Amino acid sequence: MSSRIVDNEIEYLKGVGPARADLLKKELGVFSFGDLLNYFPFRYVDRSTMNEISNLTSNSGMVQISGYFSGAEVQGRGRASRLQANFSDDTGSISIIWFKNYNWVIDKINPGTRFVLFGKVNMFNKLLYIPHPEMMTIDDFKATYFSGKMQPVYNSTEKLKARGLDSKAIGKLVAEALSRCKGQFAETLPDELRKKLKLPSVDDAYSNVHIPEDADKLDRSLKRFRFEEALFLQLRHRIQVKRRKLARSKIVLKTVGEKFNYFYHKNLDFELTGAQKRVMKDIHKDLAGAYRMNRLLQGDVGSGKTVVALMSMLIAVDNGYQACIMAPTEILAQQHFNTIKNLLRDMAVEIRLLTGSTKAKEKRTILADLESGKINIIVGTHALIEDPVHFQKLALAVIDEQHRFGVKQRAKLQKKSEDPIHVLVMTATPIPRTLALSVYGDLDVSIIDELPPGRKPVKTMFFTESTRNKVIKLMKQQLAQKRQIYIVYPLISESEKLDLIALESGYEGVVRDFPMPTFEVGILHGRMKQEEKDRTMDRFKRGITDILVSTTVIEVGVDVPNACVMVIENAERFGLAQLHQLRGRVGRGADQSYCILMGGNKLSDDGKARINAMVSTSDGFVIAEEDMKMRGPGDILGTRQSGELDFKWLDLIRDFKIINYAKQLASEIVEDDPELEKPENKNLRNAFIQYGGRNSFYNIA
Ligand code: ADP
Ligand code: MG
Repeated sequence: MSSRIVDNEIEYLKGVGPARADLLKKELGVFSFGDLLNYFPFRYVDRSTMNEISNLTSNSGMVQISGYFSGAEVQGRGRASRLQANFSDDTGSISIIWFKNYNWVIDKINPGTRFVLFGKVNMFNKLLYIPHPEMMTIDDFKATYFSGKMQPVYNSTEKLKARGLDSKAIGKLVAEALSRCKGQFAETLPDELRKKLKLPSVDDAYSNVHIPEDADKLDRSLKRFRFEEALFLQLRHRIQVKRRKLARSKIVLKTVGEKFNYFYHKNLDFELTGAQKRVMKDIHKDLAGAYRMNRLLQGDVGSGKTVVALMSMLIAVDNGYQACIMAPTEILAQQHFNTIKNLLRDMAVEIRLLTGSTKAKEKRTILADLESGKINIIVGTHALIEDPVHFQKLALAVIDEQHRFGVKQRAKLQKKSEDPIHVLVMTATPIPRTLALSVYGDLDVSIIDELPPGRKPVKTMFFTESTRNKVIKLMKQQLAQKRQIYIVYPLISESEKLDLIALESGYEGVVRDFPMPTFEVGILHGRMKQEEKDRTMDRFKRGITDILVSTTVIEVGVDVPNACVMVIENAERFGLAQLHQLRGRVGRGADQSYCILMGGNKLSDDGKARINAMVSTSDGFVIAEEDMKMRGPGDILGTRQSGELDFKWLDLIRDFKIINYAKQLASEIVEDDPELEKPENKNLRNAFIQYGGRNSFYNIA
């Protein structure tokens, strides 16, 4: 198909063949020569220099020495026997010992032949020796690809090893691929830029990443690949933004009309915070403007995003369009629906809820009414993006807790309209800056950095089992004031059964401490039927239930202002972001709220760090940064599956500076040459076509 050697199928590499090719594809995702070269070593062994024997100590670790054997003799008998030999270079000699399988060695160690040994220095009875070194004649050594360089170490798998493809064998294949591909790589970076940044050519970089001549060259080569990935990511974002802003929007929502105004003046019973007003301005400007909105709204839990979403949707309705809001769970969708319905009250706005559990008959009506345009606003879950859903005139999609949706799902939503729609994505998980730069680089960002007035920061405390009575006392005090309480248990799928038992026995314990009929205790978990869940939630919301014992199904978005204590059992088992989300369930009213973290006496270091972070700050951004440091970016957003953070070489924490620089540079380049048509950007353009097609991120437009 392609004539480029890097694209050759791996099967045709010397030393591979059909069976190994099959394994390489399955085990490592290596299909072509190029893929193999993109399989980087995870560490290196220095084979670039020879150690002098006289310098060796018991702390030398792995060493490489060159010299001659003498005086080999078998010592001891039977199982305890071993082969001992002296090995000397110009500076001294050391003992080499084989404890078993040494017959081949005896045949091989001709005193007249110079050998290169590689092994770990040990000490016994104050004597240094090297057990079972890797050995080669000097000629064989010189013929290896790593002679005088660093030897790469590759991850292999059991299946690969069974076919003889261990790290060393992979190294040989890579060396072969390198020599075949030399001079065949298209340079992706402009030469000027490369020189300015002192980055090696793509050829040199591949060669020095696999078989580095020295540590410095390795460093620069790795940097090159990281920078390259960051640059193309940022270029893609910048170009997308540029294109979006150059394409005239077909859906221009100029009117802020009757519905919006009625709502704002009659139904909204609080003053918007300054931050909410500012964000509304951003959004309105986008909706009424010349290009399509693609905006990320970040705001900590409880900052009041829902009302902003609603007002944005009312603008769409005022302009004769429809709007939708999509939430990741049924509970959340249901809650949005209730909240919005209540906020709209007496207004003539048709709003419906569509989820997986909507009854078939009702669903048919909803689908028909959506298509005819009778429905103005629809709230829903993933059910909204299913094929049978057609809108008459969709203008705006709001996506709540958007990191829980994948790229494909967002793209599917976009397809619900012929003309590109406005998109507002909302998240209560504050996103660390590097992550925002990298993953959401093509979105404009608004931040609600102010909580509605009168909120007191949640007091967060840590307790162990031995002080549980204090917790119970605090709970009783709060219950006496007619407040409500959440108690959350971890529920993690692998050990779900055990966790469920813990939850149920926890529930029984709570019922014992808070007996009927004085108290009512509810239980809620993911395995319950939807109706049961709804009923339980409803009773809690209406204040009938005093204490709700639950799993993290209540994590996202649930809003019961009268609940002011959040007890988290086995808090050390939760991730930081999750703890923060859970804490966000309280502190929504004017009363002092409490978040109580229960944990064991012996916590892991990580568990301790998470609990410390929680106790010491309630700032979502600080928490998010900490979380990213502890767990890595993928877990933070839960986006590993969706491929958004599938970087080959970049590490969002380690490579912060590279990413920042790349962003800056990409902006300058795209500002100057939006479609990369200038001759100096030829390399970028060619590479962009490749990268852009293979791994496009937010290809909504
Ligand atoms: P978020 O979705 O950002 O976590 P919500 O939209 O659920 O937050 O809002 C949290 C609570 O604060 C809701 O009960 C909401 O009615 C209330 N609220 C929102 N904005 C304001 C405001 N400006 N003043 C007072 N209360 C507000
Ligand atoms: Mg919310």
